[in-house]
Amino acid sequence: MKIFKTIYELQYWLATERLAGATIGFIPTMGALHDGHLTLVERANETCTRSVASIFVNPTQFNDPKDLERYPRMPEKDAELLAKVGCNAIFLPSVEEIYPLGHALKLRLNFGQLDKVMEGHFRPGHFEGMATVVKRLLDIVQPHQLFMGQKDFQQLTIVREMLRLLGSPVELVMCPTIREADGLAKSSRNMRLTPEMRGIAPVIYNTLMEAAEKVQYTPCPQVQAWAMRQLADAGLRPEYVDIVDGITLRPVLDYESTAFVVACVAAWAGEVRLIDNLVFREMPAV
Ligand code: AMP
Repeated sequence: MKIFKTIYELQYWLATERLAGATIGFIPTMGALHDGHLTLVERANETCTRSVASIFVNPTQFNDPKDLERYPRMPEKDAELLAKVGCNAIFLPSVEEIYPLGHALKLRLNFGQLDKVMEGHFRPGHFEGMATVVKRLLDIVQPHQLFMGQKDFQQLTIVREMLRLLGSPVELVMCPTIREADGLAKSSRNMRLTPEMRGIAPVIYNTLMEAAEKVQYTPCPQVQAWAMRQLADAGLRPEYVDIVDGITLRPVLDYESTAFVVACVAAWAGEVRLIDNLVFREMPAV
């Protein structure tokens, strides 16, 4: 497995691989890797002949400086895990490599309400930073396919819209959320949970599962209010539980006539902010 720290070295290797006929699968991450990330690499290796994972804790997508500071960093362990699942190359750039001084790289696209609701409301500027870094990384790597997790459903929706707005040829592949045995979605942030909060956190998934039942016979706003109470009663501090149209991210008013329904949650477990989601009704095949 190759490890590259500069764009120049990475692109030199990519160019030779492409000339030899390789197809490139790209997996952007912020490191502190777990099985969720590793399944993205495995998925990339199924359809591409070369997989490239990036590890970059992107400062521009953190609206809270403390969160950025506390974000776990363990590149050596990450490299070991990536090698085990057959990742071909890691891109480990510095902040200066991604954001060279004097370059106006901020991406400003109009995502409509997609980046205003849910995470966009509670983390102002987060999606502008996320879209900027994903665009920058895509320009550097120029992959055939981009692999991202359903775990960050709103992020994935915005990246899909970004690729459409830019007319990008890159194919976005959505990979299912990997969970712990008790249902908690795997996340790099889970390692910061106290034992008490780790015990409580699975209530998020359990509540989503119960909400999927309730929504069959109860209006969505009532189900949302019920879910917020469930999370708060268990000892979390929920920010939102929104049942939305999976394409527009608008609130679902009429469950029966909405083709693609997703429930998205953000809640604080002590000092750690967790997000999760569950698809209530699958996107119809097009
Ligand atoms: P992150 O390092 O948290 O920015 O995540 C990098 C990629 O891994 C994103 O596409 C995430 O959606 C994906 N990811 C994170 N956690 C999971 C999970 N539990 N299951 C599947 N994919 C995940």
